[in-house]
Amino acid sequence: MTSSEVSVNEQSICIGCGLCCDGTIVTHLAVRDESDLGAPLRGLGVEIIAAADPPVFALPCPAVNEGICTIHALHRPSACSQFECSLSQGVIDRTVTPEEARLLISATFALRDAYRDGSVSADVFNEHIDSVFRR
Ligand code: SF4
Ligand code: SF4
Repeated sequence: MTSSEVSVNEQSICIGCGLCCDGTIVTHLAVRDESDLGAPLRGLGVEIIAAADPPVFALPCPAVNEGICTIHALHRPSACSQFECSLSQGVIDRTVTPEEARLLISATFALRDAYRDGSVSADVFNEHIDSVFRR
């Protein structure tokens, strides 16, 4: 099957989401060392916070653009490929359909915009994030 034959249904819900890269779900990701962080992120100015245990780098990640990792084909830290939020885990476990997951991601974008413009409180926004992505 060529990539053009992959249906929308089969595409990862992560494509176009990126909420775990932009600081919405988590604020930092752990890295083993400089080689795990990798040259692409270093080239974008990302630095390891070595004083943390384990070492981490801070989000939002400069490599995410419109929910897509722009260095995916080059090198990502191992934590990036291992991370699963509870929504993506639900799709893997088939307790959530990809369509339901995409609707929840779209609703999260809208709620995030409302939070940013002050029309939704931090409590409401964080409760949504906890219930959808951190269960
Ligand atoms: S792991 Fe979750 S938050 Fe991260 S991109 Fe995928 S669906 Fe979005
Ligand atoms: S390297 Fe890619 S997958 Fe990892 S946080 Fe940055 S944008 Fe997300």
